[in-house]
Amino acid sequence: MYPASFKVFVPKSLDEALELLAKYGEEAKVLAGGHSLIPLMRLRLVKPKYVIYIGKIPGLSYIREEGGVIRIGAMTTHNEIEESQLLKEKNPLLSETASHIGDLQVRNMGTIGGSLAHADPAADYPAALTALEADVVLKSAKGERVLKVSDFIQGPYLTDLRPDELLVEVRVPVLSGAFGTSYKKLYFRAGDFAIVGVAALVELSPEGSFKRVRVALTGVGEKPVRARGVEEELEGKEASEEAIAKAAERAKEGLNPPSDIRASSEYRREMSVVLTRRALIEALRRARERLKSQ
Ligand SMILES: Cc1cc2nc3c(=O)[nH]c(=O)nc-3n(C[C@H](O)[C@H](O)[C@H](O)COP(=O)(O)OP(=O)(O)OC[C@H]3O[C@@H](n4cnc5c(N)ncnc54)[C@H](O)[C@@H]3O)c2cc1C
Repeated sequence: MYPASFKVFVPKSLDEALELLAKYGEEAKVLAGGHSLIPLMRLRLVKPKYVIYIGKIPGLSYIREEGGVIRIGAMTTHNEIEESQLLKEKNPLLSETASHIGDLQVRNMGTIGGSLAHADPAADYPAALTALEADVVLKSAKGERVLKVSDFIQGPYLTDLRPDELLVEVRVPVLSGAFGTSYKKLYFRAGDFAIVGVAALVELSPEGSFKRVRVALTGVGEKPVRARGVEEELEGKEASEEAIAKAAERAKEGLNPPSDIRASSEYRREMSVVLTRRALIEALRRARERLKSQ
């Protein structure tokens, strides 16, 4: 099916894009990689009067360490995040997560800004970025807002983005100390969205106990879910796989996942426990390797 007719703007600067959003924001859609927007427009589920393509704005695609955090431009593709040496060294959770998104064609075109603004409840980044307590930077002609990803995403395909705002940057922490991370994803066929996805971050104390544990899940609710029960159960305890197995049971606390053609709600709840256990065990193994090499 062809999309309904629309007018395209191709701004050459951020200021120009923000001016267009200030003028047409209510009736416009921003176009980044197009991997979510174009299918919706072709199905006429979305019929914007104006499309603002941001791919020609210089300076929206980068990954750099600055001010103690890693800053990622909104137009950075999944593939660039997967391949980034900086992220592999200082925040490998994000590059590992990117490697699980779709197939190579999707990763070559899709962008981190587009994925977050689209807020698919089964998307991969939101789980990792929630576990990392990451920030998003939103800009409009009036100024800038910085929000936690967990506050930015409000529900399925629903965010706090205002009509005149552009998501310009994602900020993730530089991980240090004896940390390990892992992203585990259950899907039917390679390239599919997650039935359940779990992002885990473990930081060990010099004595080898759990200093910090972060776990977040995707595919099991209206937005990414922090497994706070699991985190509380482990933090401060001696690190072991037995402790993880016991704590992982709490991953399903309060979850009421959707049932669909691919998986029942009950199956998703059970898989939340299994994937949490696997992600934490792998994160612990990686944290122990770092502890040994320090
Ligand atoms: C076959 C296929 C398989 C996929 N598999 C997965 C998967 O396994 N896991 C996964 O997480 N995702 C998957 N995706 C989605 C993919 O990651 C998309 O790239 C992503 O959802 C949207 O990014 P985009 O750059 O293509 O955004 P677009 O499609 O261009 O835009 C998506 C939405 O975000 C808005 N938007 C885009 N950029 C900005 C911005 N900077 N500021 C404000 N609003 C903005 C647009 O207006 C639109 O509403 C898949 C997609 C396809 C087609």
